Amino acid sequence: MAITLEQLNSAPADQAAHMLDGLYEHSPWIAQAALGQRPFASLAQLKHAMARVVAAAGRDAQLALIRAHPELGGKAMVDQTLTTESSHEQNRAGLTHCTPAEFARIQDLNARYTPKFGFPFILAVRGPRGTGLSRQQIIDTFERRLHGHPAFELQECLRNIHRIVELRLNDKFGVEPVTGNLVWDWHEELAQFSDAGYRERGQLTVTYLTEAHRACAAYLQAQMRACGFDDVVIDAVGNVVGRYDADKPDAKTLLTGSHFDTVRNAGKYDGRLGIFVPLACVRALHAQGRRLPFHLELVAFAEEEGQRFKATFLGSGALVGQFDPRWLDQLDTDGISMRQAMAHAGLNPADIAGLQRDPADYLGFVEVHIEQGPVLNELDLPLGVVTSINGGVRYLGDVIGTACHAGTTPMDRRSDAAAAVAELILAAERRAAQDGDSVATVGQLMVPNGSTNVVPGRCQFTLDLRAPNDAQRDAMVADVLAALAEIAERRQARYTLEQTMRAAAAPSAPAWQQRWERAVATLGVPLHCMPSGAGHDAMKLHELLPQAMLFVRGQNAGISHNPLESTTSDDMQLAVDAFAQLLDQLAAEY
Ligand SMILES: [Zn+2]
Repeated sequence: MAITLEQLNSAPADQAAHMLDGLYEHSPWIAQAALGQRPFASLAQLKHAMARVVAAAGRDAQLALIRAHPELGGKAMVDQTLTTESSHEQNRAGLTHCTPAEFARIQDLNARYTPKFGFPFILAVRGPRGTGLSRQQIIDTFERRLHGHPAFELQECLRNIHRIVELRLNDKFGVEPVTGNLVWDWHEELAQFSDAGYRERGQLTVTYLTEAHRACAAYLQAQMRACGFDDVVIDAVGNVVGRYDADKPDAKTLLTGSHFDTVRNAGKYDGRLGIFVPLACVRALHAQGRRLPFHLELVAFAEEEGQRFKATFLGSGALVGQFDPRWLDQLDTDGISMRQAMAHAGLNPADIAGLQRDPADYLGFVEVHIEQGPVLNELDLPLGVVTSINGGVRYLGDVIGTACHAGTTPMDRRSDAAAAVAELILAAERRAAQDGDSVATVGQLMVPNGSTNVVPGRCQFTLDLRAPNDAQRDAMVADVLAALAEIAERRQARYTLEQTMRAAAAPSAPAWQQRWERAVATLGVPLHCMPSGAGHDAMKLHELLPQAMLFVRGQNAGISHNPLESTTSDDMQLAVDAFAQLLDQLAAEY
């Protein structure tokens, strides 16, 4: 019979420990230590407490914990000496039904992994939805992680152990993230649409107004209708806009949403999570026949990533009156203009100006987004509240030194342009690290017409600098540019620098950030506030409305803009619960 949290909170210590038997493989000390922090408001809080116990236990105890696990599909499985829990999980992943070739492959991987790292490979084989990874997914992950850095792999094994515990805990408490699973499944359904050329390779790419993009819009429109939105339209820029009416007609509107276009060879959750989470909330409200005292407008933004045309945030930009008609003449790589693409999709660019929202009609804008970074994953936290979207500046630079003979030119007579930029990279790296939460990146570095035997006479580069507020960013920019001037002077090189982008930071509106904080706290999830390093649709809406964002932890160290981008249905469930909490708070306030 399933345990309840109340039983766990009120039981004597030894009985409570007994209830948590088998969670951490042969390591009952973890649950025992965490139980000292009772009472727990939620399973999420209990899970986090246990993860903290492991983090504080030190490397030797962590290694012992990892080594207490059997090899995946290994000897213990064959000899049937696995713990009941492990046996159940390896069974469920189909590891007991491997073909001889698969079995041999896994044995080979075990034989390489275990000696390399000194501990067995750990993977939560029930996967992000809890229903099991395929054997191919398991083998692919095993192969990929064989190349990991030992320090990273140790932490990744621990994170997988915590995920295994999360699933075991769900079983013990009879908890299933039903809505989280539904939201997870919606992402899978939407991911079946992918642009030609990528679809064939099993990759996800959805760029503005392609056939796959329009199929996505049609899918989202149908889902919004099915979930109970009163009015669903595709607007003039291609956004899918759903409206769930308030209990009174003259109410204001809460705006939410995110984008459904993707980068090339993308993950399935970037942007889309911010559409499906509020969709699940409206589905629940509709099922209960419940109306809020404000309208809820969900926008699935058509374009954010700037992949097909050289323009980004087309969807959210249109809502703040920032569609530049000159963009219509831009051509994609096939020579199709944005104007033609829009006509083909039945959109009328003349109507885009009319999409601009009047702030007087709105309460504010909230956006849920996968974190796209490693922070929450490292902290073992499912949710994070965003304090600010970083402001950024980008430059295109060109250092001109002297190209000369690599053999005959002594080191002290050179003006090496690439070495000058290399120095700049290190200077920018040091300067950003000094702030703690600034970032600086030279993403492109080119030596035009370079050769093995020529000192680089020219080096072109990009520079991307971001910080949580404009003053911090500008101070960093001033220092990095001063460093470049000094480096060039000393190396007798000259340079040009062209600013290609400048975006103001978008600090969260305090009242809205606090609503997210209360929502997260109500779920018993320890609160973590953090800046957003990436740009988001909320950045555009910031110009019109108070805004705040909620981040959801990514798996695989938070990797994003990559097919490995992932999050669990348990974390999705918490995101839906947090969004529902925010709606309840707002309803109580009005
Ligand atoms: Zn995004």
